[in-house]
Amino acid sequence: MKYDVAIIGAGPAGSTVAKNLSEKGYNVILTDKSKFPRDKPCGGGLPIKIFEKFQYLKDEDLIESYTYGGVIYSSSLKYRVQIKKTKPILGMVIRKKFDHDLVKLAVNNGTKFIDGKKTIDLKISNKKGLIIFNDGTKIESDIIVGADGVFSTTAKKTGLIKGKRNVSISLYSESSMKYEKMNKYFSQKRNGIMHLKLFGISGYGWVFPKKNHINIGIGEINLDKDNKKSKINLKSIIERYIKLLKESELIPKDLNINKIKGAAIPNYPLEKTYSDRLLIVGDAAGFANPFTGEGIFYAMDSAKMAAETINKAFENNNLKSEFLSNYERKWKKEFGKDLKLFLKSARLWNSENEDFIKHVCKDEKLSELLMDIASGNISIYKTRWKLIRRYLYCVFRDKLKNRY
Ligand SMILES: Cc1cc2nc3c(=O)[nH]c(=O)nc-3n(C[C@H](O)[C@H](O)[C@H](O)COP(=O)(O)OP(=O)(O)OC[C@H]3O[C@@H](n4cnc5c(N)ncnc54)[C@H](O)[C@@H]3O)c2cc1C
Repeated sequence: MKYDVAIIGAGPAGSTVAKNLSEKGYNVILTDKSKFPRDKPCGGGLPIKIFEKFQYLKDEDLIESYTYGGVIYSSSLKYRVQIKKTKPILGMVIRKKFDHDLVKLAVNNGTKFIDGKKTIDLKISNKKGLIIFNDGTKIESDIIVGADGVFSTTAKKTGLIKGKRNVSISLYSESSMKYEKMNKYFSQKRNGIMHLKLFGISGYGWVFPKKNHINIGIGEINLDKDNKKSKINLKSIIERYIKLLKESELIPKDLNINKIKGAAIPNYPLEKTYSDRLLIVGDAAGFANPFTGEGIFYAMDSAKMAAETINKAFENNNLKSEFLSNYERKWKKEFGKDLKLFLKSARLWNSENEDFIKHVCKDEKLSELLMDIASGNISIYKTRWKLIRRYLYCVFRDKLKNRY
């Protein structure tokens, strides 16, 4: 059978393309190598701004809990910033359930879903796209969407990923915890914890409390162009982190920690995210924040833009590269500048010392502004001057205070 659209990968990006196009009446097939429900290494934190574009996540009850604030510690543990908001700053999801629910929404709108079939190759001709699975079966479609994550087979096989991909590595563990105990440690506001440059690594450690789960993780920013493996043993860092959290009684001493797992996060968008009859979305296209590792919003937002472009391409009867390039213009306008600026910030972060966090700790306005940017709720690009002005003001103010 020939489909209008075939999507490779059923994470948040793939299912969002599928849902959007099925709603418009297209004949869509969504495929994944894993059997669903499947797990995906993730903190599961969503910026609140995601609901502006994807209100159905709330309406369909896909959100586990909300976080209203938390504490951020400096590397030496000498300084800390407390954030308390009246409105939530993050929504929390359990990826196994969230991703499965998103697939179900697409299926309810008419998408055909095939799981447990790995795409090993694809061919694109003037007339069609062809996907070849590991069991030898094939499907044909007018257009293909690559939503197959950071090591995208689609982008590799079509030449859009050249050479080794630059990635950062994050480790995490998600463990269940009784609701009452969660309230005791994290309050009903589910306040999170962040340790910047934990044990000196370039990155941070996090504790994301959910409804009945606690997600603990660490991420190391590795911007090495040749993607040389970091010499740091991240497994031992996360083990030390869990020990520190228990000893400081930030989490229960008797908490049973689930298996620690890790995965890669892309640092840079692909140079090109389209070609004839093909678009690449989400992690596959390299759309993640290289500073914080946040990628679900970008996955779903790029998917929405890809679906809009595909719809227009069918209406114009033009599935060629020059028409599909509209997609790249859209995402660059929407969040391209933010990703670039986060990359610059991540580079600066590597050379940063504790002075920065010291000033942040002393200023509520600066710490709230930073939290809004880091949680993905406001654009770093649009607020960059406000941030710089506030920081400089704090530096001078603190210097004057010290002098007199
Ligand atoms: C430890 C960690 C913590 C993170 N924490 C957060 C967070 O708190 N908030 C946040 O926003 N982001 C976070 N991220 C990033 C986030 O997980 C990703 O950005 C997001 O999952 C991207 O969605 P996606 O749909 O593009 O790709 P994925 O979710 O990776 O989905 C890709 C799908 O493609 C399938 N696939 C892969 N290859 C093939 C193939 N050859 N054939 C068929 N199917 C294939 C996979 O099975 C998978 O289901 C974290 C990442 C890590 C590693």
